[in-house]
Amino acid sequence: MADKIITRFAPSPTGFLHVGGARTALFNWLYARAKGGKMLLRIEDTDRKRSTSEAIDAILDGLKWLELDWDGDVIYQHEHAGRHREIADQLLGAGNAYKCYCTPDELADMRERARGEGRPPVYDGRWRDRDPCDAPAGVAPAIRLKTPRDGETIVEDRVQGSVTVANKELDDLVLLRSDGTPTYMLSVVVDDHDSGITHIIRGDDHLTNAARQSQIYASLDWDIPVFAHVPLIHGPDGAKLSKRHGALGVEAYREMGYLPEGLRNYLVRLGWSHGDDEIISTDQMIEWFDLDGIGRSPARFDFAKLENLNSHYLRARDDALLVRDIAALLPYLPNERRFPRDLEANDRGKLEMAMPHLKARAKTLPDLIEGARFLFTGRPLDIDAKAAKLLDPPARKRLGALLPALEGLDEWSAETIEASIRGFAEASGEKLGRIAQPLRAALTGRTTSPGIFDVLMLLGREETLGRIKDQAETN
Ligand code: GLU
Repeated sequence: MADKIITRFAPSPTGFLHVGGARTALFNWLYARAKGGKMLLRIEDTDRKRSTSEAIDAILDGLKWLELDWDGDVIYQHEHAGRHREIADQLLGAGNAYKCYCTPDELADMRERARGEGRPPVYDGRWRDRDPCDAPAGVAPAIRLKTPRDGETIVEDRVQGSVTVANKELDDLVLLRSDGTPTYMLSVVVDDHDSGITHIIRGDDHLTNAARQSQIYASLDWDIPVFAHVPLIHGPDGAKLSKRHGALGVEAYREMGYLPEGLRNYLVRLGWSHGDDEIISTDQMIEWFDLDGIGRSPARFDFAKLENLNSHYLRARDDALLVRDIAALLPYLPNERRFPRDLEANDRGKLEMAMPHLKARAKTLPDLIEGARFLFTGRPLDIDAKAAKLLDPPARKRLGALLPALEGLDEWSAETIEASIRGFAEASGEKLGRIAQPLRAALTGRTTSPGIFDVLMLLGREETLGRIKDQAETN
């Protein structure tokens, strides 16, 4: 039986979980779930100075919000430093690594010279075959891997194909720094090996690292996992995705009011496809995901697509859950002044009742909030400029004339309201719009809203009549 598949997401906690990282996590998660395997989460915090607990929290929160779970406990790479040192010593003992006593100045010099001569700035291997007796006193050495000088290293990649790198371009990489700390290159290989990782799915900015890591695997006589290097995400203009394009932390998307399932669907399509399918539920993703579906050209980030997908998931989502989503989002919207910050049970009920009407027009949760604002604003209403234009004197007169018809309703439902307003329009020889438009302006302060009969029903009799009276000309 084939070995169980084990993938990993291995972020460095030096910043938030950005969309590129979230996509990497999603692909690893999907591959593990699709194949009945496991996904591990390893925080690559060997660089103690640059790793922060805020970044770790942001990564964990982001993954939880996206509903991407991992198997087992979170692995903190720095806890394995002893094991990484042990492997470096093993390589040293076997003659596959050596001590390098170069000072930082010497190394800088070497790079300068190489650059000046138009060569790649690589380490020249000057301590590789030198007699250890030459070691300068009192200088702690770094440990470097003795990599092959000639020939090629070939990375067999499931996305990129066979990638060949000339060995002369890869210098003798540092395994342990002179202060004894392991480098990223060593730690990744040892941890991936020790945790039995079978598949490494990550951004193609790690492709050269894959060649270097392959050399470490080879020196240790360890099996190399399957590599799948996914092209990076680009902005709509074709340049590498940057903040300017929306390379924001996942929490920013949460605050912009996207749903986790909307973002997941969007992210999976950034680089992976299944025929022409655009709307792909998580269950379908798990059923269909495979490395063969990952494309070789960079995907372009497109906010309009994300919005469209999100509006699909908004419409599909349960109304009560959306109310909960809004309540959870409100504390993150510091500028949201007029919407009740703590949605009382009563408000929640109103909002839920309005939800089917609101979500038909919304792309994000803030769109729902915007649409629902009329439910929660007190009288007299702020009327925006466009709505004010509709409330000219003749329109105010029409509203005044409509009032008794509404006041006389025995039952306040969307049906009775509709019948009464249509009846009034007919009797007064007006088109429905001539009544409905100023009515909307008076009731919501806006020119767009859910269907007008629903607006009256949602506001209730008393509030509706009050708002009409505030604007109507009654004599
Ligand atoms: N820690 C690396 C990063 O955040 C990823 C290492 C890997 O996936 O091998 O870019």
